[in-house]
Amino acid sequence: MRLSEGEERLIAKILEEDIKSIKPKYSFAKGFVYDISSVLDLELSEFLNVANSLVEKGFLLRKFYRKVPLCPNCGSQKLLFVFICPSCKSTNWLKGKALQHLTSTCEYIGFESEFINNTCPNCGQELKSAQINESGETFSLPVDYKVYDVYYKCNSCGIFFEHPAVSAFCLDCSTQSDFNKLNWIDLYTYEPSPTLVKFEPGLFLASKIVSELTNRGYSVKEKSLLLGKSGLPHEFDIIAVKGDNQVTIDISAESGKTQKDSLLSGYVKSQDLENTNYYFVSVNELTPDEKKIAETFNIKYIESKDAKEIVDKMEADNFQKVENIKKS
Ligand SMILES: [Zn+2]
Ligand SMILES: [Zn+2]
Ligand SMILES: [Zn+2]
Repeated sequence: MRLSEGEERLIAKILEEDIKSIKPKYSFAKGFVYDISSVLDLELSEFLNVANSLVEKGFLLRKFYRKVPLCPNCGSQKLLFVFICPSCKSTNWLKGKALQHLTSTCEYIGFESEFINNTCPNCGQELKSAQINESGETFSLPVDYKVYDVYYKCNSCGIFFEHPAVSAFCLDCSTQSDFNKLNWIDLYTYEPSPTLVKFEPGLFLASKIVSELTNRGYSVKEKSLLLGKSGLPHEFDIIAVKGDNQVTIDISAESGKTQKDSLLSGYVKSQDLENTNYYFVSVNELTPDEKKIAETFNIKYIESKDAKEIVDKMEADNFQKVENIKKS
């Protein structure tokens, strides 16, 4: 599986420091941040891309944390929310209990205090109520008017409204944005998945072996194809060439059935190539069954997670210094 540089660095950090959970934290300077993203020198959005891509690849698990608004102009989280008149955007408004007269000729709305003696200040008619008697108690119910317990009136343009509109002022770039124009990001808490824990030992082994081989003068290709005698192409994790010595390597961090299948496919591939040394590198110790397969089919295997040791063994085998690396 291909990982980007950022993905590799994040995984390396998690494994190195045995991180169990990555949570966003609030800072007054920046808003929500992940501590680890500053260590890795990633912007918040870059970090989220890397982490979410690792979720897709099965290496991290995530849980929704919260939705956070961003300034649409500069991406800052430092927003001051302002509550404004939906018509003229003034912040100069009043809140109170309001009544609305509802007759065929009048729809006047105003604060309760304007309806002196229960009379509509617009049309001069008295508001009609019905008296209801229920289990000994009397209630007054509105007949031709409506009561709003909480309503707002703009002091600038005079309109009444049910809810103020929300606008955000960016403390970083001074842009004023309507609520609907804001950008939103979803923040999650992340934790290593069981897959990551399982693959941990072999995860960076390929790139470590590649640099070890490169340092020793090999020209190296990763995940490349070689054409067999049969005319079929075969893929190997690593193909390395130095002089007339060609080496192919497969790396396995598996165990059980998959490991056996990999061994057998390694055998088939290696038999189809001429003048090539094939090595099966296993991060885990092979089981007796797996060893039996390897020995029966004469597959050269190296059990190790140490790149230097692996390349040492390989070279020793190549140069016939060690007769047999298949010792169990
Ligand atoms: Zn801004
Ligand atoms: Zn009226
Ligand atoms: Zn207004």
